[in-house]
Formats: sequence, C-alpha cells, structure tokens
Amino acid sequence: MDYKNTNDAVTRRIRAMVDRVNMLKENDLYFYNQPISELRGGARVLVNGHDMGMYASYSYLGLVGHPRINAAAKAAVDKYATGTHGVRTLAGSLKLHDELEATISEFKNTEAAITYTSGYVTNLTVVSTLMGRGDWVISDKLNHASIVDGCMMSGAEFRRFRHNDMEELEKRLQQAPSDVSKLVVADSVFSMDGDVIDFPRVVELCKKYNAWLMIDEAHSLGVLGKTGRGIEEHFGMEDSIDIKMGTLSKTIPSVGGYVAGKKEIITYLRHASRAYIFSAALPPAQAAAANEAFKVILDEPWRIQKLQVNTDQFINGIKKRGFDTLLTSTAIVPIICGNDERAFLMTREAQHHDVFALPVVSPAVPDGLARLRATVTAAHEPEEIEYAMNVFEKAGKEIGIIS
Ligand SMILES: *Cc1c(COP(=O)(O)O)cnc(C)c1O
Repeated sequence: MDYKNTNDAVTRRIRAMVDRVNMLKENDLYFYNQPISELRGGARVLVNGHDMGMYASYSYLGLVGHPRINAAAKAAVDKYATGTHGVRTLAGSLKLHDELEATISEFKNTEAAITYTSGYVTNLTVVSTLMGRGDWVISDKLNHASIVDGCMMSGAEFRRFRHNDMEELEKRLQQAPSDVSKLVVADSVFSMDGDVIDFPRVVELCKKYNAWLMIDEAHSLGVLGKTGRGIEEHFGMEDSIDIKMGTLSKTIPSVGGYVAGKKEIITYLRHASRAYIFSAALPPAQAAAANEAFKVILDEPWRIQKLQVNTDQFINGIKKRGFDTLLTSTAIVPIICGNDERAFLMTREAQHHDVFALPVVSPAVPDGLARLRATVTAAHEPEEIEYAMNVFEKAGKEIGIIS
C-alpha cells in the first residue's frame, strides 16, 4: 500500500493495527472473522471443514434456521422482492414494517414501536435525537459501544458511573442541575460480563430524580422473564422503562433494532431521528423473519426453560472447574484468562478441539481481564456442553489459568 505521508498519525495507527493482526496470524493465534460455511441448527457450525460446537452465538433461543422463520422470509421475498424503495418516510414503508412494529409493541407491552436497520444505529440515533446540548446523559461504564457513541454524538453532558454502582449513579443524578433533562441509559444484561443491571434501584432513582430511563435489551430479549419479554418481566416491574431498546440480530434471527414506548415518543423519533429519515428501511425478508420470530418465542416457551437449564449447567460447570466467571447469571459466560496472550492461547486450544469460542481482549475489556466470552443457547445438548467444558478445563490447566 502506498501512503501519502509515510509517518503521520493516521499511518502509524493503521500500521500498529496491521502489525498486531499479522503477528497473531503468524503465531496461529488469530481466530476472528472465520468463514462459517454451515450453521447447523445454531449449536454447531462448519468452519474450514470442521464440525464445531458453537459457543459464540447470540441466537439464545436457537431460533436461527427455524422453519417457520425461514418460510416467512421466503414468502416476503416472493411478495415484496428483496429491497425497499428507500427511506420509510417517502417510499420505503411496507405493510410488513407496520406489522413488525405492532408485534414488537405488543410483545413489549407498549403503545408503539419503531424499527431501524441495526441495533448499533438504533442506539446512535435514538440517544442523539432525544438528548442535546445542555441535557445530561448518565451511562454505566460497561455500556455497549453503540450507547457510548450515541451519548458522545448527542452533544449532551456525558457522565458515567462505575459499573452497576447505584451509589455513584445517585451521585451523578445529584450533580445534574435540577432544571436540565436527564437520561439514564444502561444495558439490561452486560454484553462482556453477563451480569444484570440492578434494575429495581435504577428505576427507583430515575423516579426520585425525574430522569428518563432507557434500557438496551440486546441480551435479555427472549432470555429474561418467564415468557422472554425481558428485564421488566424478570423483576415483575412492568411499565418501568421509558425507552425500551433492543436488537433484532441476536435472539431474533434477523437484523435491525427497535425502540418500544409511548406513542408520542415513537412519533417524535419517526420524524426526528436521522437514521429513520435518511436511511433505507429494513429489507422485506428481514422484517418478516423478525415478525415471525416474536411469535415463535410465545408459541414455544420450552426454549426459554431449556436456555435456563443450559445456562445453569454451563456456569456451574465452568466455576466448578476453577475458572473465574465474574458475576454472570446469564447465557454470556466470561471465562477469565488474564493477559491477552492467555486468552488467545485458550482460544487456539478450544478451536483445535472443535469448540468455537472467541477471545475478548484489551481495549474492549480492562488489562488483565482478557477472556473467552462463551455463550450457551437453547440449541445445545447437555453432552455437548459437557464436552466443551472439558476442553476448556484441559486447556486452562495447560496454560496455567486453573490448577
Ligand atoms: C449487539 C449489541 C448491540 C448492537 O446490535 P446490532 O443489531 O448487532 O447492531 C447494541 N447493544 C448491545 C448491548 C449489544 O450487545
């Protein structure tokens, strides 16, 4: 590659990243972006000719490949073809989009819902549309990158509190001038650690300090609550969240993001959020697949129970083998390895024994807390989970993570 200026800051940043990637590849420690050639029901995948147990999937209820969902997507292609005419406001809105939004608002028990083409874009556009200069947005330190980016883009005063530390959240709320608008925003289940936000206390503090509450349910939709409706159902606290955000790319095997809430909020977003007004609508197949998936969740409640059983088996088994799993109580199980190199070595051992799990290293997580971030789903069978845990145990002993 020819650089315009061979030593400016941009060039140095590019080179530093390329060097890191090349170094990992040369040492057979690079396992990102692998070509999966078959999704075998969600619990297994075919990668480079190897049939592997899948422990990096967010298809928590094992819905990816579900016949009803595939059929809905195919029917939508036959009826509406593959694209939309552009943005919803002008020419791209289909009946399918309205149906999907009605399904979501019913599922989330709200008046209305709006969809966007990705979860990332949803957080970016919703936070930055609701909040602006002079407002305060208060965010958990472990919130997803899309929330952080939305907060920064908004131009509002951006304050953070220590992860799940409700005393510090209260301090931040007290620091805000009493006459400004305040938004508290947090993940329901944290995507790196798998733990759950102290929801009852957050709700209480938002009421006390008159702050809006936005919760990102990327990892709780279909996971928490008896019928999979999420964190409010889990805590028995319906109607506690002003802006209920979620993604259509994890439990829901499609792509896209949504916000559910009061009609007025949704009308505002539909006419003010730039990702809705200036970006094309969800493709028909994805809208139809998402719509059907919500119905399957309600029709097949055994999936939620099986996910819970598998989660208990996985967390208990990993802990019993001596690994640190932080405070997880959900299907995201961090297996702490220590430094980045140990996490890469763990990954290599796992992958060489046909267990597909991936490392999360700095700067995504703090130095010294590099980990395999392993997930289980309702699609796994107990024997498969046991096999994967034995692979992790053997590797952990060889690398010196456990004794
Ligand atoms: C995955 C994720 C998103 C982004 O969703 P996409 O649909 O993949 O863009 C947002 N928030 C959290 C907490 C996530 O884990």
